[in-house]
Amino acid sequence: MSRLDTVMARWLRQDVQGMHAYAVQDSTGMIKLDAMENPFRLPPALQQALGERLGAVAINRYPGARIDTLREALARHAGLPEGRALMLGNGSDELISLLAMACDVPGATIVAPLPGFVMYQMSAQLQGLNFVGVPLTADFELDEAAMLAALEAHQPALLYIAYPNNPTANLFDDRIVERLIEAAPGLVVIDEAYQPFASRSYIDRLARHEHVLLMRTMSKFGLAGVRIGYMMGAERLIAQIDKVRPPYNISVLNAEAALFALEHADEFARQAAVLREERARLIEALKGLPGVTPFPSEANMVLVRVPDADRAFAGLKQRGVLVKNVSRMHPLLAACLRLTVGTPDENQRMIAALRESL
Ligand code: PMP
Repeated sequence: MSRLDTVMARWLRQDVQGMHAYAVQDSTGMIKLDAMENPFRLPPALQQALGERLGAVAINRYPGARIDTLREALARHAGLPEGRALMLGNGSDELISLLAMACDVPGATIVAPLPGFVMYQMSAQLQGLNFVGVPLTADFELDEAAMLAALEAHQPALLYIAYPNNPTANLFDDRIVERLIEAAPGLVVIDEAYQPFASRSYIDRLARHEHVLLMRTMSKFGLAGVRIGYMMGAERLIAQIDKVRPPYNISVLNAEAALFALEHADEFARQAAVLREERARLIEALKGLPGVTPFPSEANMVLVRVPDADRAFAGLKQRGVLVKNVSRMHPLLAACLRLTVGTPDENQRMIAALRESL
């Protein structure tokens, strides 16, 4: 045994050593439809202007007042209600980790519907909290009775509701969401990562409940590479959670890029509108393929059931199209692939490749 083997055996968590690393697939040269990114680059003139802005940023200093400017700009952009505050994360992934840290009281539990976003479970596992996943119904709606029973039985510190949900892409029934919020004994996080593509948002209801946090990200808006997530909630609650945040978690370059993007929010809104139209076209095209069932979507992804998910995934990959094979993620997703909505050209090529791969 080497010295490092001995050190790792003794000091590195066994559960971490037994985990699978979060796999980011190599997508070089491929049509990348696996991670709900906005496929559009900035128009060249804006990309150039962004370069100039970033070129003027002082990178010798730790992030300072500019971060507050970004918080204010996001609060305006989101329509933050009176009495609510906003905190920033290095992507909403970081906010999910921070929440697990902040709520790590003895015996704490996180509850979330399944299938859902993997980070809710992973944050619990890493922080040593319990995780209870409650299956959705067969049509991907919240199972109200099962959720209420889980809230009662497990008294969770945190309840996550992704709105719209990943990977099912639907918005849950508002009346059920409201009843779960009423019944939850702890904090409720409404995760609106896909808000730019959804027909409804929780933002107008955020002022109703002090134990509800609303999480969003700039990733799906078009800044996945920039890593800015934000969370809104009651001022005194956010003030506490903000204490576990590493002090300089937002890079000055990220903050400047995000401010630039908000100044050009109309360009990103235009891109989102194109993607919503493309989503409708994509769903129609998928319906025309034999044995293929696309599910309704309020996000920039479409969950689709195919005759053989492994075969379709491999065939797409061989033809240069990368999607996500979610068929083994949960029994409700048997034979399902998750397709990100790409550019019109990418979607057409994906459909052609899928037709050949069924
Ligand atoms: N929430 C949901 C529901 C997601 O699907 C994702 C990313 N796929 C995230 C949060 C994390 O987004 P980010 O860390 O890029 O902000």
